[in-house]
This record gives sequence, C-alpha cells and structure tokens, in this order.
Amino acid sequence: MIIVVKPGASESQVHEIIDVLERNELKPHVSEGAERLIIGVIGDKSRLAPGSLEVLSGVEKIVPIMESYKLASRQFRPEGTSFNVKDLVIGGNELVMMAGPCAVESEEQVEAVASKMVACGVKVLRGGAYKPRTSPYAFQGLEKEGLKILRRVADRYGLLVISEVTSENDIEYASNYLDIIQIGARNAQNFRLLSAVGKSGIPCMLKRGIAETIDEWLGSAEYIMSEGNYHIMMCERGIRTFETATRSTLDISAVPVLKGKTHLPIIVDPSHAAGKAQYVEPLALAAIAAGADGLIIEVHPDPKHALSDAAQQLTPEAYAELAQRVKEMAAIVKRSYPIVKE
Ligand code: PEP
Ligand code: MN
Repeated sequence: MIIVVKPGASESQVHEIIDVLERNELKPHVSEGAERLIIGVIGDKSRLAPGSLEVLSGVEKIVPIMESYKLASRQFRPEGTSFNVKDLVIGGNELVMMAGPCAVESEEQVEAVASKMVACGVKVLRGGAYKPRTSPYAFQGLEKEGLKILRRVADRYGLLVISEVTSENDIEYASNYLDIIQIGARNAQNFRLLSAVGKSGIPCMLKRGIAETIDEWLGSAEYIMSEGNYHIMMCERGIRTFETATRSTLDISAVPVLKGKTHLPIIVDPSHAAGKAQYVEPLALAAIAAGADGLIIEVHPDPKHALSDAAQQLTPEAYAELAQRVKEMAAIVKRSYPIVKE
C-alpha cells in the first residue's frame, strides 16, 4: 500500500507515520513529489492494528496497490521520476542519448567512436567489458581493462559511462569506473544481482529479459528499488517471438504500457532488437515517437570486424545521420534534444 501524506503536513506528523510503520516492522519508502509526499509501505501489513494509520493526523489516504510490484508502480510517484547522474538529467524533457561499441576491444576503438559521438549529442558512452556471450568460446570482454579504457576515453570527452555487470562480485570494482550499471537481458531475473545493485545505490539501466512480461520486468525493478535504489531506467531491447527476420521483436507497445504502469524513465535499445544495422534507425525513430526518454545504440568504427554483434553496429557516420533524424522526431513529440557544447 501507499500512504498519501496530507499536503503541508509537518515533519513530526510524517515521523509519527514512519514510527508506527517501523514499530510494526514495516519498511517505509518515502517519495517526495512536487505536490505530494507519498510513503510506500513494504512488509506484512497484517501486523498493523486496524485503523492504526488512519487515525494519524498526517495521513490523507491509504491506497492499496494490487500489483506485486509496489515502489515501481506509477501510483508511488504519479508525476514520474527524473534523476541526475552527475549533471545529466534522466527522465526529464531532454532525451538521453547513449552510444558506443557492443564490446570494448581496445582504447583506439573506443576513442574512434567517442570522438565522433560528442558532436551528435551523446552524453553516455556505452561499451561492454563483461560480455554475457551465448558461447563460452566467443570473445568474453576485456573485463577490468575494458572498464579502465571506457573511463579514460569518457573522461577525455566529458561523457558518462554505462557498462554491464554480470556478477554481484564485480559491482564494487566496476563502481570505480562506471556511472551507470547495465543489467543485461540475460540477467534480468538474476535476483541476487538485482538486490546487490539495489544495495549499491549506483544508478542502473535494467534491460528487459528476452522472455519477460512487462509485469515480471517491473518485478525485477522492484528487487532493486526495495533495497533503496530508485535510480533505475527500464530498457526495452526486444523480446523473443516466432519472428526470425529480426534478432528480437522490439515491443514498441511496452513504451506506452510502461508509462501507465510505472514512473521510471524508459530507454529503448533498437540495436539488440533489430540485430541488423539497417533496421536500427527506423526503430529508434519509432521509439521516440512512442514516448521513450532515450536511446542506447551500438556504434563501432569498423562494424564488419567487430568481435561481437557485428551485424547490428552502426558506423559513426550512420549514427550521425540517425541522430539528425532523431532530433527531428524529438521536435515533433515536443522533447528537447541535447545541445552540443562546442
Ligand atoms: C549489450 O548491451 O551488449 C547486451 C548484451 O545487451 P542485451 O543484454 O540486451 O542482450
Ligand atoms: Mn551487443
């Protein structure tokens, strides 16, 4: 359930509510909106004596949440969530553009991409250091060295770093180099990893599992939020269907459906959904038209020779064209596009 606090309630009235919850071993999660203070309550509500919250002077109303996810529910933050990662606002009016290679292969490779991305409005550099590959014989990523390369290159261009972490054991090390943790599709229901990312407090982008329903995916977000980390972006990256023309099927409907169900910002990854470079731009435009808050796109200086996901990576030149089209689409849907500082 959520408790809607009376507008203008004093600090002591709010404390009184939290006190009753904590005395009954319930966990309060406070969300301070522009107009309303809302307290999400997690735990066994049957501990509460009937009426024990209703009588408190700071309580306006109590709303039960029927879904199994609570903190991720739109009701917890009706106005939507936006948060900062350093000076980048995620979930605001301005689109968040993230790009970079599938995997970090060398400093020269990452440099060749990053140097061209800045002028396109990209604010976050992506690159896989720990690669979750289907085959154990495929390139597994440069791991620690990959993270160091990303950080060095990103710092040269004033970019943030997003990179996937596949094990809870790597979070602490990775946190020295990245700004946003990516949870990949294959780990979308690795609940220990989700809880560990929740405890770390590091902003994260949660990709949708390849066979996850939207409600299950929100359950994954709830694992992170229930540990106190609310800085989450949901990333639609395609789901497995009977269609084989594309690598996955981009579930465009997930964007408006999520907007109704959750307050969390929504990112779309057209690269992994398409699996083929020629489909990335149309899917990117569709995502923005549908209301996505940002995009994450794979770019490689020499896609043909990429060590992973060669077919779907764009050249920096193709990305620059895509960025121009996205900018035009942003204007149509009244979203601002990042201004490039000279
Ligand atoms: C990736 O971003 O390189 C990746 C492996 O993505 P996904 O988890 O969506 O397959
Ligand atoms: Mn990839």
